[in-house]
Amino acid sequence: MFAQVAFPISSYQAFSYKIPEAMQKDIEVGVRVKAPFGRRIVMGIVISLSKTNEYQGRMKSISELVDPQPILSQALWELIQWMSQYYLTPLGQVAKSVLPSSLSLQYKPPVKWEARLKKNVSKEELSSIPKRAKAQKKIVALLLEAKAPVPISNFNEIISNPLNVCKKLVEQEIIVMIEKRSLPDLSGYTFDLAQKDIVFSDEQKATNKKICTAILANEYKSFLLHGVTGSGKTEIYIEAARTALSKGKTVILLLPEISLTPQIAGRFKSVFGEDVALWHSKLSVAQRSWTWREICKGTFKIVIGARSAVFSPLKNLGLIIIDEEQESSFKQEAPAPRYHARDVALVRGRLEKATVVLASATPSLESYYNHISGKLEYLHLSKRFGGAKYPQTHIVDMIQDQEESGKYGLIISGLLQDKIEDRLSKGEQIILLQNRRGYSPVMRCGDCGEVVSCNHCNVSLTFHKKNKKLICHYCGFTPKRISDSCKACQSPNMKFFGTGTQRVEDILADTFPKAKIERLDLDTTKSGTKITKILQSFDKGEIDILLGTQMIAKGLDFGNATLVGIINSDLGLHLPDFRAGERIFQLIYQASGRAGRGEKLGEVVIQTYNSENPVIKKAAQLDLKSYYNIILSERKELNYPPFSWIAKIVFTGPEYKTVEKISFRIVQNLKGKFKGLEVLGPAPCYFEKLRGNYRSQIVFKISKTLDANGGKLHTFLEKNFFETQHKIGNIKMNINVNPVSLL
Ligand SMILES: [Zn+2]
Ligand SMILES: [Zn+2]
Repeated sequence: MFAQVAFPISSYQAFSYKIPEAMQKDIEVGVRVKAPFGRRIVMGIVISLSKTNEYQGRMKSISELVDPQPILSQALWELIQWMSQYYLTPLGQVAKSVLPSSLSLQYKPPVKWEARLKKNVSKEELSSIPKRAKAQKKIVALLLEAKAPVPISNFNEIISNPLNVCKKLVEQEIIVMIEKRSLPDLSGYTFDLAQKDIVFSDEQKATNKKICTAILANEYKSFLLHGVTGSGKTEIYIEAARTALSKGKTVILLLPEISLTPQIAGRFKSVFGEDVALWHSKLSVAQRSWTWREICKGTFKIVIGARSAVFSPLKNLGLIIIDEEQESSFKQEAPAPRYHARDVALVRGRLEKATVVLASATPSLESYYNHISGKLEYLHLSKRFGGAKYPQTHIVDMIQDQEESGKYGLIISGLLQDKIEDRLSKGEQIILLQNRRGYSPVMRCGDCGEVVSCNHCNVSLTFHKKNKKLICHYCGFTPKRISDSCKACQSPNMKFFGTGTQRVEDILADTFPKAKIERLDLDTTKSGTKITKILQSFDKGEIDILLGTQMIAKGLDFGNATLVGIINSDLGLHLPDFRAGERIFQLIYQASGRAGRGEKLGEVVIQTYNSENPVIKKAAQLDLKSYYNIILSERKELNYPPFSWIAKIVFTGPEYKTVEKISFRIVQNLKGKFKGLEVLGPAPCYFEKLRGNYRSQIVFKISKTLDANGGKLHTFLEKNFFETQHKIGNIKMNINVNPVSLL
């Protein structure tokens, strides 16, 4: 018997191996194995089995079976194959995304040894320890005092290598060692929430009924659940999950932001208890390994997590919900496969005959269009839950505000300051959004304008005040010290420009010295439990002002937060990307939705330097429908998604010239090969240089009127890029099918 194995390499080739006798009965397609590859032993996945093999040379054997039983269901295996084909990525690489090599059924939590004295140990036995064995005596003395078994690692402070010393004491039958396997502690990742009594409105009841009927029908069905902010979508999810579980089915709930998991997962845990597993990047390796093993065993029925949770090896999957489906974090940018969890979920749903619910207050334009064209069934929740009212919104024109007040460079306008003071005096809470972390994003020479930028990337370094460092937000580079003079003209006149969350925090602390302020951004939330702590203490009213990046804009639900301030709503508005406006609209709309979710009326203050911009205006009016109509007709005119299919190819390499040359050559070769195909570029990427590599891109675009399901574009890419190398000399090439951004 022979097995063909695909490895996580950028080649489509599979490699043949002999299967040792002992493995033959256990080996199956979709099982992971380890096999010699080059000089190493590498993990790969079996993609086919055969009785004969044409290869004439000496063939190596598979060294090890990684999974004692197959983990991949037929559906997951088909999903891997679909992804490989659709995202033009070799099977081995896709398999690695679905089944990361760190995860295994054979995972065991690390052993922690404990020691105690043998019961009824006699004085003679104790005195039998030789005098020179000082380490042994020390341990016995400590154990004599201790009332309970002592972790052996505790002895590290007093002696070296306590484990060996303890083993000697066991041989002498003086002490006993106990093996402890401690399960990873997952308690700090969710809120403890009280049980809620839910009374559904008629609108919600009708929505529940449609989703639950679909789940019970055991057939693939997809919905767009469009519910305004505060319409109680979480409760709809819970009802749907309950129905799925009642029929012995399992559920995946995808969330875009780690900051959303504590609250929503907490709500789920209060209903479903131990059936719920969490899956996201903030879990430690041990926590992930254990969680994954238990999912395979069938311990959990519901998995709540970020993008990669869409691959959870749950059996009998009945329901996939994607909350905030418009979020670009559902798209994997690197490494390949550059998949979108929303598309993967829809395909998995079809393969598993499951119900898929795409949910949002601000649907992606794609999904919105798919509902208009009848591909998704539309469910609308038009009212806020429990009779809560929409917040009142105010636009502050910062240019006018500065001219009138004579105070230039203000970060917080007079109106926002007044509103904050008013809430503080009433004991109500405030959420402030500034979608940029750090203190100042630019350090610039006041004389010649030279910006201090990263040595490896063509982007400015952001100043972080706490550790007084300049940091590159793309590669993490930080210069050893901040130079006090300009590199270009030696002027000492170096100044910080722009405002990040840290600077806003300083200003708030000066302006409202009595307020309790907490900041939530990537820098304050290195650990997942810290996020939970901050949100929980905001929930308890221990924090007055919660300041943060987009992490705080979506999904969070706090009844006493009655004011939302958007410090600079223009950030990102002028980025050269066709989705820039859509993103800003969604961010403002979503952030506004955090205000007034309880009985108290909410207010939103939106500060802008572009008060006439339609994105800002429509977002401030919370007028989604008319904004989406504007943007749909814009996209139609310019032939951008959802009216066309696009793919992006990025070339990267250490020398600018070769990157340019190769991308030009490729475009030349492709010209005229495909009628109706627009080829944009090659052009330098928006981030021209990242991590020491120059970048250039080509964008392919074809109208849906010419290529209804994208099949033609796909065949074209497959022909010209699929089988070719992903490397040309030292130039790397990557393909991004349906990119979420052209930056
Ligand atoms: Zn200068
Ligand atoms: Zn950098």
